[in-house]
Order: sequence, then structure tokens, then C-alpha cells
Amino acid sequence: MGNRLDWMHQELEGLKNAGLYNRIRTIGSPQGAWLVVDGKKVLNFCSNNYLGLANRPEIVAAAKKGLDNYGAGPAAVRSIAGTMDLHLELERRLAAFKGVEAAVTFQSGFCANLATIQALVTKEDVIFSDELNHASIIDGCRLSGGRIVRFAHANPLDLERAIKENEGSYRRALIITDGVFSMDGDMAPLDEIYQIANAHDIMLMVDDAHGEGVVGKGGRGIVDHFGLHGKVDIEVGTLSKAFGVMGGVVAGNAVIVEWLRQRGRPFLFSSAMTPPDVAACIAALDILESSTELVDKLWENARYFKAEMKNAGFDTGQSVTPITPIMLGEAPLAQQFSRELFEEGVFAMALGFPTVPKGKARIRVMISAAHSQADLDQALQTFIKVGKKLGVI
Ligand SMILES: *Cc1c(COP(=O)(O)O)cnc(C)c1O
Repeated sequence: MGNRLDWMHQELEGLKNAGLYNRIRTIGSPQGAWLVVDGKKVLNFCSNNYLGLANRPEIVAAAKKGLDNYGAGPAAVRSIAGTMDLHLELERRLAAFKGVEAAVTFQSGFCANLATIQALVTKEDVIFSDELNHASIIDGCRLSGGRIVRFAHANPLDLERAIKENEGSYRRALIITDGVFSMDGDMAPLDEIYQIANAHDIMLMVDDAHGEGVVGKGGRGIVDHFGLHGKVDIEVGTLSKAFGVMGGVVAGNAVIVEWLRQRGRPFLFSSAMTPPDVAACIAALDILESSTELVDKLWENARYFKAEMKNAGFDTGQSVTPITPIMLGEAPLAQQFSRELFEEGVFAMALGFPTVPKGKARIRVMISAAHSQADLDQALQTFIKVGKKLGVI
């Protein structure tokens, strides 16, 4: 045996010693308000199943029907072997839901970002990117070969400064921001960013992974929230969070979608979403378009939980969305808090450096429409009990 893999053992040991090793819990049930985690029944505040669609009977039934009618897999790349009409139907439905000319789906939100940024930017170009953008945006920017200029988080003045400083030094430019930022639950000031993009005639892209199905009228996303229809060039979304399935989408101008079908590398070199996934996403749209009930329930739950946590003396940070951070300060405290919650039957993740800045460790509570009033009250009592025990409140 050689020792060519020794470095990996050492790196893994290093992660464990630094407390940065990912220990992944095992879930033995479908997603929902309650889960079986490591064999124990717990209240779930970890997942992005905002509307409870992941295990909703209509969605599961639609996936089964997709499976019966179209089989398990697409068996090829769409541009080479043809595209199933089911995928085109989903794309038409997504475009109609978002109020845009066209949409194209990808295997995931991550792939959608890689595809889009690489197709829009090359090495003569520059990307203005919010410093807290998602990893898939960062990777897409790197793969594009374009020059990356970061601007201060959610700060239009700093964006303006960055553009002025770089004026004349590039061929084309693209501004990219997350819509809803997943660590704090705050939102990009997209209206002001649009004004700047428009004034400088720069392409504008927003990644609305945590806003799709959550913000805007009936969950139509951040562009709808700000009333910017037809003004934001590229809206990336995921079908893996509020939609409860798996997949990514790019929605916008017809010419952009046409371009991505020609130049989006994950579209050209990777197989499409599976038929049951596509059918399930169409069923999710049926539910979203039929009523705003689930989105309303999500927000009602989020407002109630946040208000009660504040009343109890917790710091819930800057969130304006159902993502509810409970600010605790140091990472070991957040980790202990999460462990104590789990012992008491509440599953909520601790986040520390480097996912969030040093000294800003927290528990991130993901609220869902699937939670009942009794679920929320039970969680509140547990948070208060653990908070008192650890001297946080
Ligand atoms: C979750 C997320 C993604 C990735 O979406 P997937 O569909 O899970 O690949 C991309 N961007 C942002 C901002 C996200 O939060």
C-alpha cells in the first residue's frame, strides 16, 4: 500500500479536531413537521419544506403517475435525444406562474446557477456579486472565467461604487444577488439594485431559491414581491425547497432561455430532471395556483413563532422571512443548544463559523406551513426551557 491517501486521513482528523467535521443525522421517515431522526421522533425545524409539499398526497400521487406514464428516467440529454413533452409542459407552467416569457429547467438549483453564469459571462466580462451569495453562484462565477467584483452585502451604494470603479474595464457586466439570504432570512434590496443595473445597462440576475413559493403573491417570488415584472433579466429558482421536489429553473426573457438551451452546459451535457420529479412539480404548481392558503399559513406560522420567541427574550436577528435565526454568539453554545433541543425532541440546526461570521453563531429555525399550532407551541416551550437552562434568557 502506498501512502497517497494519507493526506486525506490527516485533513479529516484536522476537521474533527477543529469541530468542523460534518456529522450527518439519518432520517427514517418522509419530510414533514415530524421526522424520525436517528431512530427518535422529533419536531422538524431544519428542512426547506416551506409549504409541506415534499410528502403531500397530491404530489406523491402525481409523481407515481409520472412514473407510470413516462418511466423512471429521461435516459439522455435533452438536446441530443429529444425532450419529453412533460418537461416542456412544466416549463410553460413555470413561465406562466412567474409571469415571464419563458422558463427552462435544470437538474437542481445548483446546476441552474452553474449553467446560467457560464453562459452569460466570459473572461472579458465582469460580475458584480453580493459578498454573501450562495456557494453555487460563487462556483458559477469562477467557472465563467469572468472577473469577480464583490460588493458589500445588500448594499446598493457599495454596488454603485464597484461599478464606477470598474467602468470602461470590461466588455459586458452582470449583477448577481441571492433574493432571500438563507443564513439571516433577510432580502436583497432588489428594487434599488434594479435601478442601478438599469442606469448602467448591466444584466441583472437574482437567485430566488429561498423566495420561490415563499415571497411574492402566492409564492411567485422576489420579482413579484418588488413588482419588478419584466425588469429583472434572469430569475433562478429551485424546485427543491418550497416546491418539495428536486430541480432548478431559470425564468425570464425568451431570448435568455433560448440561449441557455444552446449554451447552458448542464443542459447540454447532463440528463434532464426525472419524469416523476417533473410530474410532481406540475402538481406543486396546481396547488400554488389554486390557492394562497399554504403560503399564508407559512407566514402566519412564522409571524407567530418569531413574536413569541422575541417575547421570551430571544434575539431573532434581521429576518424578514420565515427563516428564523436565534442568535447565540459563540459556536459551542449554539452546538450545545442544538443538542439539548434534540434531547427534548426538537430538531434544529446550529450554524457557526465559517457558515456565518465568528461570534454570530445561531440556531436556524426553518418554519413550515406543515407545522400545526400545537407543534409551534411545543417548540416554543422547549426553546424556553433550554434557553433558561443555558442562561440565554
Ligand atoms: C439551496 C440553494 C441553491 C441550490 O438549490 P438546489 O436545488 O438544492 O440545488 C441555490 N441557491 C441558493 C441561494 C440556495 O439557497
